[in-house]
Amino acid sequence: MYHVSPLPSGGCRQGDCGVVGADFASFIASRWWIASLRPAAGRPRRVVWALMRAAVLRSPGEPLVLEDRRDLQPVGAQRVVRVLAAGVCHSDLHMIDGAIGGPLSRVLGHEIAGHVEGIGEVLVYPCWADGTCEYCRRGLEQLCPAAASPGWTVDGGFAEQVLVPHPRFLLPLGDLDPVRAAPLADAGVTPYRAVRRALPWLTAGATALVIGAGGLGQFAIQYLRLLSAATVVAVDPSEPKRRRALSLGAHDAAAPGDDLPTAAAVFDLVGSDATLRQAVKLVRPAGL
Ligand SMILES: [Zn+2]
Repeated sequence: MYHVSPLPSGGCRQGDCGVVGADFASFIASRWWIASLRPAAGRPRRVVWALMRAAVLRSPGEPLVLEDRRDLQPVGAQRVVRVLAAGVCHSDLHMIDGAIGGPLSRVLGHEIAGHVEGIGEVLVYPCWADGTCEYCRRGLEQLCPAAASPGWTVDGGFAEQVLVPHPRFLLPLGDLDPVRAAPLADAGVTPYRAVRRALPWLTAGATALVIGAGGLGQFAIQYLRLLSAATVVAVDPSEPKRRRALSLGAHDAAAPGDDLPTAAAVFDLVGSDATLRQAVKLVRPAGL
């Protein structure tokens, strides 16, 4: 029978406990447990493993549930990331409230920074494409039909550990703070790609309009200022977000009902029917 019990406070008394070597203090501290497999006859054979905690969405409209799960065991090229930080994306909130339906139960979270043994602190690229299909060969991994997505099709970062299929999805963080870096995995790379594609339109004297100064918009404003000579105008109904946009380098910030300039490139980072209509109205001929 399986017997699972908290580790005795004095430490491992088994003498053959193989999992505690790495970090005995944290083993005792809170989260690691010991389990013994006792055969019906003969000397008790002890199998020891650790548990990790994960916040799980079991059904939409209900709070996440903390579960103890078996420590993740990598196979082949897989790597286990010990999560140091995980961003909360609107997609996560929409999965929780049921607006986006995904396979459940699921550990959410796709903006993940953590530590990998032998590599160090990393950011996890959250589109686990196969790397071989037509889209992947063209650098369009986000369109790969075989891609797995942590926090969506497989378990993600709202846990102490994440299993990543290959080290090519791990980017060394260097000196970056994992907490500040985690949102780069999605909120950071999405507008980066958009701004980079629009650079040929963003010559000196051009105007770039950023609709929505939330998480993605704030990154977009910074990339535009770093990578282009365009005049950057942020559009957001929220006054604090407009102030934030100006503090991040936007030349101007306006409300959606204001008299807005036309632009060589319009970045709609809201994606509602209303903002898409507005974007179409404001983009100049031959613009983007
Ligand atoms: Zn592919």
